[in-house]
Amino acid sequence: MSRKVLLWDMTREEAEKAIKEADFIVLPTGSIEQHSLHLPVSTDSIRAEELTKYLVLHSGDLKMVMLPTLYYGQSLHHMHFGGTISLREGTYIQVLKDIAWSVKQQGGKRLLIINYHGGNIYPIQVARLQIEREIGLKVYFVGWTNFASDLVKGWFPGVPYGHSSYYETSVILYFRPDLVVKEKMQKQVHRYERELPNRPLTRATSAAYFEAQYPTGGIGDPTLAKVELAAEIIPIVTERIIKALKEDMKYE
Ligand SMILES: [Zn+2]
Repeated sequence: MSRKVLLWDMTREEAEKAIKEADFIVLPTGSIEQHSLHLPVSTDSIRAEELTKYLVLHSGDLKMVMLPTLYYGQSLHHMHFGGTISLREGTYIQVLKDIAWSVKQQGGKRLLIINYHGGNIYPIQVARLQIEREIGLKVYFVGWTNFASDLVKGWFPGVPYGHSSYYETSVILYFRPDLVVKEKMQKQVHRYERELPNRPLTRATSAAYFEAQYPTGGIGDPTLAKVELAAEIIPIVTERIIKALKEDMKYE
């Protein structure tokens, strides 16, 4: 690594300089929640840590400093399954605001939140409004999977790729194969196999407990997972995110 980009590896002097020079101070957000029987509860946080690390190391002429991954997320909808440790929405918003406040005190120009867990989206959206208004720090928001979904779907058209399915399983197989319990991989059970209406749903699915729809704790079919899927999409998605950030910076 030619220059240090991980805040926790820096000395005080290095950090002071790097934060002030950076275009983005990057916060990856994950979760500690059940991921069916075959994946670790840290699945989203491992993705957050590794995929963000890859991004800040391949950011081209955009200067980035990565903050430690926020391992805890909003996972209340998974609470009835073992291993789930969650922050409540209000706490989560406050944690993000305190991190943002610190970034502002340290001279950071922009906070980039890269999220890897659906349950975090609503609290992040509230927090970013409050951070911009109350703290005066610009907040960019990227859902990593949003930049990957067309590529992921292309591998197995028609198969749901969400929580614990072939997509997340492929990424964990790529970074931490030792943590994937292969003999427990199984096609997941959906309680209601039916077509969704061709309009936005009027009841957010995340408001319900996960097991109400997915009693096995996951979606889709993790047995399809392939390490090659992760290897193929990571550089493409990284490039897309960097390009989008550069474009959106023009609107400041
Ligand atoms: Zn997940």
